[in-house]
Order: sequence, then C-alpha cells, then structure tokens
Amino acid sequence: MAESAEVNKLKKTLEKKYVHLFPHSHTDEGWLAKSDDFFTGKDTSIFSGSVQDILDTTMLELLIDKNRTFCYAETKYFYMWWEKQDAAMKEKVRGLVKRGQLDLLSGGWAAPDEATTTYDQIIDNMQIGQQFLQREFEHHPKVSWQVDAFGLSTGYARLARDFGFDAMFFSRVDIAEKIEMRAQKKKTEVWRPHEENFGDQKDILAFNSDQGAVLGSYCWPAGFWADTSYLIDVPIILNRNDPGYNFEGKVRAFYEGTVQQFEQERTNHQFRPFGCDMAFIEAKINYKIADNLIATWNRLGFNETVELLYSTPTKYIKEIAKENKKWNTTSEAWPVRRDDTFPYAQNPNQYWNGFYSSRPHIKKNIRDATTSFHSANRLLAQQIVRKDLDDAEKHKLLQYQWNTLDALGNLVHHDAITGTSTTDVMGDFNDRARLTRTRSLQMNTKFLAERLEQHHGIHVKPEELSGSLDYFQTWTNLSSPYSHFNDLMFTVQNPSA
Ligand SMILES: [Zn+2]
Repeated sequence: MAESAEVNKLKKTLEKKYVHLFPHSHTDEGWLAKSDDFFTGKDTSIFSGSVQDILDTTMLELLIDKNRTFCYAETKYFYMWWEKQDAAMKEKVRGLVKRGQLDLLSGGWAAPDEATTTYDQIIDNMQIGQQFLQREFEHHPKVSWQVDAFGLSTGYARLARDFGFDAMFFSRVDIAEKIEMRAQKKKTEVWRPHEENFGDQKDILAFNSDQGAVLGSYCWPAGFWADTSYLIDVPIILNRNDPGYNFEGKVRAFYEGTVQQFEQERTNHQFRPFGCDMAFIEAKINYKIADNLIATWNRLGFNETVELLYSTPTKYIKEIAKENKKWNTTSEAWPVRRDDTFPYAQNPNQYWNGFYSSRPHIKKNIRDATTSFHSANRLLAQQIVRKDLDDAEKHKLLQYQWNTLDALGNLVHHDAITGTSTTDVMGDFNDRARLTRTRSLQMNTKFLAERLEQHHGIHVKPEELSGSLDYFQTWTNLSSPYSHFNDLMFTVQNPSA
C-alpha cells in the first residue's frame, strides 16, 4: 500500500540533513607581518588589507542581512577594533552577538599554541579575553576554536571544561589519523583528558574540521576561493544570463562533496568553514557568493533532502546536543579520545616538531616574563587592598596588570612562542617579551621595597633592588633597625605563598 503524503513528509523531515556554513576569518596576531601591522594593514607584502578592514566590512554585511553569520576567535584584535567604534556601532554589534549572528569563539586573547605553552600561560590568555567579552557583551564562549594550532594537547583539553567550553574545534591532526577518522566516523569524538585523574569529569566534544583535502581544512570548500588574497577560483560568474556562467556547476560539485562527507558523519549534521587566513578583507564578496550558493542550492532542489544554512559553531553544537539526546545505546555513542595529537604530520614524513625547541631564546624570554608577572601579581594583590592607596594609584596598578596580560596573551599566539613567524616578526615578539619581563621586575622591586618599609622599617630604594631581583638574592646597602645584627641580610619573597 502506498504511504500517504503525510507520512512521506514526516519521513523526509526525520531524515533531513543539514550543512552548516561557518563564515570566518583566521587572523594571526603576528606571522608574516608584525602583530600591529596585520591589524592596521601597514605591511601589505603578503596580504593586502587589514584586520580592521575585515571587521569593518564584515559587521556591515551582518547588519544588512540577519541570516548571515560570522565566527571570530582573536579577541585581542577584536578588542583593538572595538575601541575604535562609536557608541552607536557598539550597540549594533552587541545586538549581533546577542542574536548569535556574530559568534565570538574561545575568548583567548590569541589562539594559543598548545605544545610549548604552560597551564598558567593558557589561563592568563583566557583571563584577559574572556573578561573583556563578559564585560562588553555578557558573552561567555561555549566553543574553543583552535583550527590552526599545530597539534592539540591533552593539557589544553583538560582546561577546556573549566573555561566553560562545551566543545572544541580543531583541524590539524596527523594525516594518517585523519584518514582513520574519515573511515571510522571519528571526526567527532569525546575527548577524555587525564582520565587517570579525572575519570570522565573533563569530557568534552571535539570536532575535527576536515574537507577531504590535505590543506585548507578550515578554509572555503573547493570552488569558492575568491577572496582578495585568494583569487584561486575566479572568475565566479553569478549571472545566469552571462555566457560564462559557471556557478551552478560549482554548487552541484559542492552538493556531491557534502553527500560524500555525510558517509563519514554519525549525525545528520556537518559543518563547512567558509573563510581562511585573513579572509573577508572585502566581506561583501564572500557574502554575495554565500548568498548565491544557498539560493542556487535551493533552486536546484537540494534543500529537499539537505538544508544548507548560515550557521556558527555554537549553533552547530546545539543541534549535535539534540542528536545526543536521541541516542540511548552505547553502540551509538561517540568514540572516546584520550591522547593529544602530537606530533602532527601534515603529509607522510612531514612532521611539525621543530617548533617544540626552535628559537629557544624567545621561549625562555616569554617563560621568564610569565614567571616575573606571576611573582609581581601576588604582591600587586597585597598592594591593591591597602587602605591608604588612592584610586589613581590603584588604576596604575591595574593598568600594569592589563598591559602585561595583553603582551603575554599575544606572545602565546601559535606563531609567536612557537617561533614560526618571520625573523622580523620574531624580533618584534622578542622585544615585547623582554620589555614585559623588565616591567614586571620593576613592579616586583617597587612592591618589595614598599613592603620592606611598611613591615620591617627597612629603607631601600626600588632601583637598588632592580636588575637581578627575581628568584635570586640581591646585594644592596640597607638601612634597617636590624642591620646591626649582621653585615649581610637576606630578604626572601616567595611568590607562590
Ligand atoms: Zn594561525
């Protein structure tokens, strides 16, 4: 007996699949150009345009059409752009965040490297970024977006739940593992870091971005690379009356690719990043193509079985959560991952492991800057609660703390502490690391001198303590009530206490 039209319709709805487009731009905070130069566009040797252009043009395009979405994870740059906006624009952008059109991911000041960084560096990076997002948008990111990190660590995954994330997106895993992920439907996994200590308490969903190609796993699908710095698939001719019209063929090829990819998925959802490094410099081009992609997809009737929609990682994981609820047997459960993804081989025998130890001087300078900051930070906390400290002085102290977190956040970016930037750019990072450390040492000596004065009546100028003070003893001429006991006095400050 033929099924009724109603039943058929219901069946179609149940079996319907969804492709989530993630418009995004990955903006390294220093790499082929210095951090500030990427933002301003001063250095155009590699990319024409700037991060300012990306955020300026993208926000306008989002405001034109409420369906459009955008994902962004480099909070330091977003902060720099935000500070230049007037109150009216800020209000509009707050609306974009509230509606979920603009998905501010991770909240890290930079997208950090995970191999050469320490827990405290990762936490500092999140602290300054997430505080900014909370203050300005009351927004707490649910998703970590680490699509360019050169391998992922279990240490980062262990912190992810504590940062408030429900899921992590990444792309760079060993080529052999990537092939296995496709074959065994393991592109989505539950990551269970440090199970021996935490059991399943730190479980987090982990999504691997993979579009079947070795490179470009977080960039546009094939056929749609037409950004200012990526004129690969041009010309893209959208006008159907034009003799050179070629868009429908691209849409059909993309549809076939998504159907194949569903064979590697456990749910009726898949995501496709739509962007790349320094993409959306002229956002209008990308949104015009994406609008036409969806319209053509629907005109060809593909949407009867597969819906193509503007989306974001946060919207995507909400759909995945619904799928999870439907599952009630262990055979349907996500595979569990326990290990990190190091070392990462981009191709057979092409391992990314030199960066673990290359340019060791900058790794040391950043580590020293971090420890000096943490040492000073504890003394700063004691200073800030002093009753005799006026607001101006408190402001100065907090400004020092913010400036340091700003610099350190940038320094753990995956092209900074790793040493994968150009020589010029690394020189800039190194100067920042040294300056940050010096400032922290100065704050240390200032606080310590004040403390000696307050608690022990020992008079010493901060500059007399400066230089070698850190975790080391310092020789200085002291004038103190105790100095007659001995020619030599040790003053010990334990920054961990
Ligand atoms: Zn990057």
